[in-house]
Amino acid sequence: MNMLCYQCEQAARGTGCTTQGVCGKEPIISDLQELVVHAAKEIAQYAHRAAQEGRRDPQVDTFVLEALFATVTNVNFDPERLRELLHRAAEVKATARSLSDSGEAAPDELHWEEASDVDSLRSYVPPVSLARRIEDLGAEAAGLGELALYGLKGAAAYADHARILGYEDPELYDGFHRLLTAIAQGSTQRDELLSTALEVGELNLRAMEILDQAHTETYGHPEPADVRITPRKGKAILVSGHDMKDLHALLEQTKGTGINVYTHGEMLPAHGYPELRKYEHLAGNYGGAWQEQRREFADFPGAILMTTNCLQKPQDTYKHRIFTSGLVAWPGVDHINDRDFAPLISAALEAPGFDEDGPAQHITVGFGRDALHKAAGPLLEAVGQGKIRHLFLIGGCDGAKPGRNYYTDLALAVPEDCLILTLACGKYRFNKLQFGTVARIPRLLDVGQCNDAYAAIRTAMALADALDCEVNDLPLSLVLSWFEQKAVGILLTLLHLGLRNIRLGPSLPAFVTPGVLQVLQDTYNIKPIRDPQSDLNEILG
Ligand code: SF4
Ligand code: SF4
Repeated sequence: MNMLCYQCEQAARGTGCTTQGVCGKEPIISDLQELVVHAAKEIAQYAHRAAQEGRRDPQVDTFVLEALFATVTNVNFDPERLRELLHRAAEVKATARSLSDSGEAAPDELHWEEASDVDSLRSYVPPVSLARRIEDLGAEAAGLGELALYGLKGAAAYADHARILGYEDPELYDGFHRLLTAIAQGSTQRDELLSTALEVGELNLRAMEILDQAHTETYGHPEPADVRITPRKGKAILVSGHDMKDLHALLEQTKGTGINVYTHGEMLPAHGYPELRKYEHLAGNYGGAWQEQRREFADFPGAILMTTNCLQKPQDTYKHRIFTSGLVAWPGVDHINDRDFAPLISAALEAPGFDEDGPAQHITVGFGRDALHKAAGPLLEAVGQGKIRHLFLIGGCDGAKPGRNYYTDLALAVPEDCLILTLACGKYRFNKLQFGTVARIPRLLDVGQCNDAYAAIRTAMALADALDCEVNDLPLSLVLSWFEQKAVGILLTLLHLGLRNIRLGPSLPAFVTPGVLQVLQDTYNIKPIRDPQSDLNEILG
């Protein structure tokens, strides 16, 4: 076995990638990422001890977020960038340790920081590898620890996006340090581990709340907006990923250049934000979800910016005109530092661009927290009058598995007196289809990015308050698709809130053992998806 990773839905054979990642992760990257996570655990243990003594250091807090985020699926594939991260980790670890009066070492401290090159860094990996955790703790306890760790990785991505926009919460950082410390301690008790995982869900709710505040206070509340999904004639830049600040800076820097900027994947919700859509050269949305990028980027006649995840191995045909930013990295791909997009803009001007306008076609986005709040009155009235029978939340991360057409088939089979909320990149399975309206409300409401699950949660809570019932008693069903660790964080948030009857697919996580699955089914009635019609019959029956 060259490596072991089972953190995403693509895990080979449904159990784990052992020779090379299905995502393209080589064993060297797997090893360096294992060490980055271990470094974050060591640093968090020192930071947790310092926090109990009333001390903190912003550099330490930021590093823990970035270290976790850099190891999320499809973010960082560059050994040199990971080596640099570990070099920084060594300095941050010394700072974190010096924060506390007690100079004692963390219990499982390895002195990996003494290694200077990639090969010697890799020699420290075996005792902190996933394979060793499974061997030492058993498959169930190790899997539950990973469940909590992966949820924290997702929450770290959201907290980092908020931090970049200037929104932080010291208590949130304390939570990361405390929970990483608990995970590092390696409990074997199922109840204790489940409780840690649910606390991760609570922390992720707060991370999504801060990011919602960061987005809405910086760019305004999303409003329903028509988005062109066909190209305009002219030079072009395509922006993918989740980082709105990158998009905003790029829109500023491309003003007056004649370049049209298009969103891709999870950047689509940007069109709903008033402070982003005011730019006339934010021309539209191009393509679908992340897993289509190798074909779509090859066809795109301009330059491409990949912010945050999800990056796939670039093809040679576009490697010279794709750029990464933030924590995303691929060896040999130019990286943009400090939001200086001059190289990207030059590449766009050198590329041919679109030679003619496509036929005008549009979709509607922008049903964020505020817009949903405004729609709640008419929605409740329509539910009360029996005009709307049921609400479905169909969304989550998309991926490449063939069974994912379930989500398209389900959305199409939802009866016409029912409404569909959607979010994250799973929406691309059906967001260009026609759903019409019910009770003068669009039947398909695009809530936004995966982190906008926060808006959906707040809306569900507001509806439950208005109807004087529990969220579980609403005529609302959640049918979620998962792929990577942000989805794990969101699932843990929903479980922390006590939501039951969630349907999850297309396959269940490799890190959840049959025993743990039974507990989740008994406690929360989590169900694997089956075929769309059987699931619909059961939900509406
Ligand atoms: S992130 Fe997913 S695809 Fe990549 S190595 Fe891990 S389990 Fe495999
Ligand atoms: S929602 Fe998940 S799978 Fe989709 S682009 Fe974002 S991180 Fe990737």
